[in-house]
Amino acid sequence: MIPRFALHIDGEDQAPARDAWLPVFDPCTGAAWADVGAGDPTDVDKAVAAAERAFAPWAALKPSERARWLERLADALEAEAETFIALESRDTGKPLALCREIEIPRAVANLRFFAAAARTFGSESQHGEAGLNLVLRPPLGVVATISPWNLPLYLFTWKLAPALAAGCTVVAKPSEITPATATAFAQLATRVGLPKGVLNVVHGQGAAVGEALVRHAAIKAVSFTGSTAVGRRIGAICGEHLKKVSLELGGKNATIAFEDVAPREAVALVARAAFQNAGQICLCGSRLLVPRSRLDDWREALRAELPGWSAGPPSDAASRIGPLASAAQAAKVRGYLALAAQEGGSVLAEGRVLDSADPNGWWQAPMVVEGLDIGSRCATEEIFGPMLTLHAFEDEAEALAMANATAYGLAATVLTRDLARAHRVASALDVGLVWINTWMQRDLRVPFGGNRQSGVGREGGWDAMRFFTEARTVCLAT
Ligand code: NAD
Repeated sequence: MIPRFALHIDGEDQAPARDAWLPVFDPCTGAAWADVGAGDPTDVDKAVAAAERAFAPWAALKPSERARWLERLADALEAEAETFIALESRDTGKPLALCREIEIPRAVANLRFFAAAARTFGSESQHGEAGLNLVLRPPLGVVATISPWNLPLYLFTWKLAPALAAGCTVVAKPSEITPATATAFAQLATRVGLPKGVLNVVHGQGAAVGEALVRHAAIKAVSFTGSTAVGRRIGAICGEHLKKVSLELGGKNATIAFEDVAPREAVALVARAAFQNAGQICLCGSRLLVPRSRLDDWREALRAELPGWSAGPPSDAASRIGPLASAAQAAKVRGYLALAAQEGGSVLAEGRVLDSADPNGWWQAPMVVEGLDIGSRCATEEIFGPMLTLHAFEDEAEALAMANATAYGLAATVLTRDLARAHRVASALDVGLVWINTWMQRDLRVPFGGNRQSGVGREGGWDAMRFFTEARTVCLAT
């Protein structure tokens, strides 16, 4: 019997209304290893109804009581971390070390961070000009969270935790490609006694379940992370219904290395930014911009670095990255590799696929491609795979123009020892997040999100708490 990931509604595992199930594939072998419920609008109605019943008592709790619940969830997740690490790695093919060091600890941190946020979130008051003005921040009601497959539990909890902290109840729709840890987390929440209906998980395909959820009249807001194409569709539906929406979308981020950076010293960071999680992170630096004067040094450094990047199964300790997430994602990445050759690119350096990798898995060796025009499709479209394109610039102005030359505006990394240059460049980059001499590091209190086609709105810290609440001003005559 293979595992079955059921829907979790009103504190119970439930088969989908039509009893339809979808296969969940093991990306390391290409074979189905589990089933996931294929929910439909009937299931969405049930989940939303459960969340509506749960809302008033949940919203009536003191913030410190909701904080306690989030802490209990964090404690339980931490206590069962090894189970979740194994499950996340099984579902995604990611190296166990990545799940153990980053993804599951970050899910725990998300819960603890927003437990603290529940306790400390406040609102402004103004007086002296026109009465005494108090701003209340009541929770919105029932909200939808829709998350992708690339960082399953990490992003699931990143949305869930602030929603619960703010006093909302949630219907969550994780990716049908990686349903395992979200299901296990909902079951864990029920085991620790989280009131029924506060967290509901509906599974199934985006068009069938996700869209029904977005359209549901009782859903007061939608927090979405995923592709720009789906984000645009969700944004349009929310616009039609005048629903609050937060969209965290794709990216095509540049890493800019200035003259004062030694390629041999910086190449490890550049490669990690490009290839971590097989390049399947919205924040990956998939374009490397270097000064023409340093181009040969960078080519040499990349040629020396890439052989250390091997793709293989979690069972092989030599695996630095896992497979691509799905057959569709593998086909997409391979399509871009073929396109790169048509667009005049050539492979400068390549990692490898380990012998322990099953030939039927969706493996892709990391790759650096040079010779592409900065305006080419491979250098402007989000590939979401382990492919880094290398480009040379003449001066700072050209580097900036190249970095900003895509429709996306999520993040950028600047490598330099010149502080004045670092700040000048950071202020001219049209992105939501700039890293200077680092990557993937962030204080959870600061706003997170993208500009232009990378999204609408910001997550993190007070931004997330404000998103899940609505301001109500009460003005008292004085
Ligand atoms: P996706 O857009 O295909 O799917 C994301 C989620 O939306 C899934 O749960 C899916 O089932 C659901 N969905 C699909 N169609 C829907 C519809 N019509 N209505 C409602 N829901 C629908 O994205 P993906 O392939 O799972 O994830 C990869 C993408 O996510 C990449 O573009 C990546 O850049 C982006 N991403 C962005 C961030 C960020 O914070 N900006 C973080 C991680 C991933």
